[in-house]
Amino acid sequence: MHTERPVRTGGKSLRLHIWLYFTIFVVIVFALLWIFQIVFLEKFYDRMKTADIRRVAAEMLDHYDDAEFRDRYDELAFDNDLCIEVVDRYYRSVYSRDLLGGTCLLHGYKNSVYDLIDEIRSSYNGIICGEVKNARTQTTILVYGQRIGTPENPQGYLLLNTPLVPVGSTVSIIKRQLIIISCALIFIGLLLSLYLSGRLAKPIADITHSAERLAKGDYTVTFDGGAYQELQQLAATLTYAGEEISRVDMLQRDLIANVSHDLRTPLTMLKAYAEMIRDLSGDNPPKRNEHLAVIIEETDRLALMVNDILDLSKLESGGLQLNPTTFDVRGKLSEIIDRYHGISKRMGYEIHFTPDEPRDVTCDAGKIEQVICNLINNAVNYTGADKQVFVTQTNTPEGVRIAVRDTGDGIEEEKIKLIFDKYYRSENHKREVVGTGLGLSIVKAILKLHNYSFGVDSVLGEGSTFWFVIHQEPTSSPKKH
Ligand code: ADP
Repeated sequence: MHTERPVRTGGKSLRLHIWLYFTIFVVIVFALLWIFQIVFLEKFYDRMKTADIRRVAAEMLDHYDDAEFRDRYDELAFDNDLCIEVVDRYYRSVYSRDLLGGTCLLHGYKNSVYDLIDEIRSSYNGIICGEVKNARTQTTILVYGQRIGTPENPQGYLLLNTPLVPVGSTVSIIKRQLIIISCALIFIGLLLSLYLSGRLAKPIADITHSAERLAKGDYTVTFDGGAYQELQQLAATLTYAGEEISRVDMLQRDLIANVSHDLRTPLTMLKAYAEMIRDLSGDNPPKRNEHLAVIIEETDRLALMVNDILDLSKLESGGLQLNPTTFDVRGKLSEIIDRYHGISKRMGYEIHFTPDEPRDVTCDAGKIEQVICNLINNAVNYTGADKQVFVTQTNTPEGVRIAVRDTGDGIEEEKIKLIFDKYYRSENHKREVVGTGLGLSIVKAILKLHNYSFGVDSVLGEGSTFWFVIHQEPTSSPKKH
């Protein structure tokens, strides 16, 4: 059946999507960086500075009563970039350190120490903390003040100043950097996704192309999966599928060729004899009966052939169930060979049977009978001029070995592998005994279904022995091949 080539669906492009996802990723990274570096930077900085100044003030209070408090205060001032002024309860300077060159509110020309102390005194918890902008220097100063001692009995006041670096310029630098980095990332993402999707999409496109060729019947095609494991697996599976399709296709062609070849001969004969009866022997009863006998024989041959073809296709499709029964092999063999008496007498063949002790086996009797008949048919067909065929039964501990020997030309070593193949026929087959060309394929299929061992021993010029062993253990369930 020929079906239409599948149309291209409106699916999404792999290439575009890889790039899209990469770009979304870059945008998210960019947005996060933007939020943290630009929007919150100033707040982070202020909060950090306030926390630092509080920590320093706490430490200064701890060391206020130490003898060497000045050394410690110096250290704190240097480490934290601070201006410090400590006064006692009478506002007399106890300690003073100016690291900002008079730009602070404590030491500059616009000294606000007293104002700040007033603010501390009026605050509810004795602490002030805030930013003061210096309009002249365009700087902002973080001011911190704290009372030493209790409100009723203050011992002095602690005043700290530290400059707040303008974050604005830093932010604008980071902003520009971020824009450059984002552009670079999007560009790199584009290149990377192009490269990646190329590596992914190209093998897929190649596989599609190969599959199209396969669909058109080019079985020589192989699939290449590129560098990635999953695609390699897909390619390997498709190559395997291609091989299988090719095999099935070949079998089908062979089947048609063989069947038509085999059917043609009996059909020609049928037509020829029917015409002979019509034109010549119609009024001559003895001649007519002779011709009718040929027609009947050829019709039997045809019926057998069609049965064989059906049997084999049933066996091979795996849809056939075995129907095991228990029977005596020896009895069965004698019964089959008896049936050959008619034909062997008529055509001068001799079938010798060498039996062993009766032995019960369990298997599909009908099918095993078919195997034996096929082997005897072949032996009769291919045996030598002496027309001798030998059937031997040998009981062994494993089971019963049945061998069918002829005295024919034998089979060449390389052909032995082929003769069990479907539709393999040697060119020089004779037509004395009904044969369809499928006999050994059916034998093989049945024996394989039973899991029995089988084989051929053949010596060129001396004859062949086809054998198989009916194993003693119960027949295993049929396997699908
Ligand atoms: P057919 O006998 O109808 O050709 P088979 O499948 O039974 O088909 O056999 C396939 C081929 O195996 C035969 O064509 C023949 O060449 C070879 N063969 C089978 N049995 C014998 C035998 N006993 N001696 C020699 N060749 C044989």
